[in-house]
Amino acid sequence: RGNEHDLETASEKQENDGNGSRILVFVRLRPMAKKEKEAGSRCCVRIVNKRDVFLTEFASENDYLRLKRVRGRHFTFDSAFPDSTTQLEVYSTTTAELVEAVLQGKNGSVFCYGATGAGKTHTMLGTVENPGVMVLAIKDLFNKIRQRSFEGNHVVQLSYLEVYNETVRDLLSPGRPLVLREDKHGIVAAGLTQYRAYSTDEVMALLQQGNRNRTTEPTRANETSSRSHAILQVLVEYKVKDASNMVVQRVGKLSLIDLAGSERALATDQRTLRSLEGANINRSLLALSSCINALVEGKKHIPYRNSKLTQLLKDSLGGACNTVMIANISPSNLSFGETQNTLHWADRAKEIRTKTCDANEVQIPDSETDQTKLLLELQKENRE
Ligand code: ADP
Ligand code: MG
Repeated sequence: RGNEHDLETASEKQENDGNGSRILVFVRLRPMAKKEKEAGSRCCVRIVNKRDVFLTEFASENDYLRLKRVRGRHFTFDSAFPDSTTQLEVYSTTTAELVEAVLQGKNGSVFCYGATGAGKTHTMLGTVENPGVMVLAIKDLFNKIRQRSFEGNHVVQLSYLEVYNETVRDLLSPGRPLVLREDKHGIVAAGLTQYRAYSTDEVMALLQQGNRNRTTEPTRANETSSRSHAILQVLVEYKVKDASNMVVQRVGKLSLIDLAGSERALATDQRTLRSLEGANINRSLLALSSCINALVEGKKHIPYRNSKLTQLLKDSLGGACNTVMIANISPSNLSFGETQNTLHWADRAKEIRTKTCDANEVQIPDSETDQTKLLLELQKENRE
């Protein structure tokens, strides 16, 4: 019975305490699938008190009758969502605060991970009837911009890319692989489409098309690849006057990440890691586990350069960023090993701390300033 960490509440955690902030870690249990029921599954996961996950190790029926007890392990997270949790509840608890921070020019990122079929894409993208975090975040963003009647001033840009087999592809405009370059903002994919979005309505269709553009594995026709990572980035730019009445531009970036299936790839010890590397399973996911290990252990050198995914997510893991992880799990005892692995990783991710998150601000050149000042004044007048 390990891991009874005394966790702060979500909002307490997001406050910076000088050492940066801890990553928020959530677990979402999905309902038992029809297939799993038909295969005679039993449920081996129980959510207790909205934050504890109890994973049962099924002994044989005889053992159970003889010992009259169930062996298992408790894990504690910032929240644990039972299978009845709605998409909106997941969004509100995990991501709404990050959207608010992005509107103040800060960076935020949300990772979904777990085995194939555990509910990552459902959580991130969802369906038209039941949209997930990506769509709800953009909807909330536009609502908040409208409420503040800042509309004319905010520019919202979307990019959606895939990392598959160490190749980066643009999901909004499929074509040749993209090259990663380093510029003053960090690592960027050269030539990636930046789609200027004006409303929520267009976004779901755009993202669904993007999702269909994800690489499918030849052996599993019609199924989105379990080895492809999808990253949606939402960039919000706007101008404000700072304390000394100077006009500055603020840029907030929200990254929403649907990771590849974690089965067999998230190794916890170095020996397993090496054997998996030999088997060429998923370099990006392995590199992610190495980076997480190094961050948790407080190492000086974090091996971001080992994969495309970790290069792209460097800011999100070790940089100044509010970071959230959502671990998706199945309730079925047939997925026990994968669930155990996912929970183990989620438990470890609680130890990562990111740097203190400040707003990204740049001064505006004088030539632009007068116009912007006028614009801001007119907007203020309008509001009044
Ligand atoms: P992953 O992306 O992790 O491989 P999916 O999101 O595609 O998994 O989920 C696998 C299946 O389970 C899909 O048919 C999906 O609709 C369903 N599913 C996942 N999570 C939920 C949920 N919370 N409620 C209802 N159905 C879900
Ligand atoms: Mg998926």
